[in-house]
Amino acid sequence: MLAADDHRYRRQSLFPPIGLAGQRRLGAATVAVVGCGATGGATAQLLARAGIGRLVMVDRDLVAEDNLHRQVLFNESDAREMRPKAEAAAAHLREVNSQIKIEPAVAHLHAGNIDELLAGTDLVVDGTDNVATRFLLNDWAFANTIPWIYVGAVGGEGMLMPVAPPHGPCLRCLLPEPPPPGVLATCDTAGVVGPVPAAMGAMAATEAIKLVIGAGEREPRLRSIDFWHWRVHTIALPVRQGCPTCVEGRFEFLEAQPGSRLTEICGRDSYQIVPRDCGSLDLAWIASRWKGGNQTRSKSFIRIEEGGMRLVLFADGRALIEGAGEAGRAQAFYDRVVGA
Ligand SMILES: [Zn+2]
Repeated sequence: MLAADDHRYRRQSLFPPIGLAGQRRLGAATVAVVGCGATGGATAQLLARAGIGRLVMVDRDLVAEDNLHRQVLFNESDAREMRPKAEAAAAHLREVNSQIKIEPAVAHLHAGNIDELLAGTDLVVDGTDNVATRFLLNDWAFANTIPWIYVGAVGGEGMLMPVAPPHGPCLRCLLPEPPPPGVLATCDTAGVVGPVPAAMGAMAATEAIKLVIGAGEREPRLRSIDFWHWRVHTIALPVRQGCPTCVEGRFEFLEAQPGSRLTEICGRDSYQIVPRDCGSLDLAWIASRWKGGNQTRSKSFIRIEEGGMRLVLFADGRALIEGAGEAGRAQAFYDRVVGA
């Protein structure tokens, strides 16, 4: 006789590699999804349905109308009310599965709070939209010997790579250093086909299930999929000689102070961001590829208005942001504009 929980998941535990034993391991596991937008939201929904016992949902941003074409967890009223994504995601997921623990954290993940936010997790899934947080996750994973899954989606393409400490390869074998701000394509500059991040989220959820039950690949591969042209690549990424994270065990992103200095300017609902080691930005390039919001440009700055926020970006990387309401939203807007 099956227990009630087992009945709920019987179509999944019927699959022999999972079985009842695997299903119970899922129920005993904690998975953190960092970033609850398009890929993270899709992953989280499928993991909640799959019966992961405890889901930690971290996100610093608010739901906006132009999220809705791809962020399957959210609806129009979330956008109208500008609900924090982590909270809106948790509320919807509790309607999907009331039998698991779902813990939202409305926060900008950084070196100073990552231990606390990810405490007790068995696996971390990347739902972020920025390189800085991924480097931090990569360091944290090796410092704590916790697996994580790198996931990205932009345009019509997606990438995925499980990372399984203490063994490499890791994200820094693929990308040794974070590229300078403004170089990488983001969903705000290259756009994104709505179903692509959802498909990547489904793949990440499948990998997560495999890792939790101990059925992950012995040698994780990088998967790169161009959905628009149906090009699929599997790459056996070598461990990069001298990789600071997975070879030398140096965790410079985990030990660093937060990458940029964000300060509130009192009384004006305004924030200033001064990035560390930014050098100079090509404002014309950033302005030309920005597709969202209204923008005006002068020789020394660009000004972008979107969703009640106004950002003024200077060539040295410094920015002033008004109307964000809170620091995480200001930082998120900045990162989207400069492609950090
Ligand atoms: Zn590495």
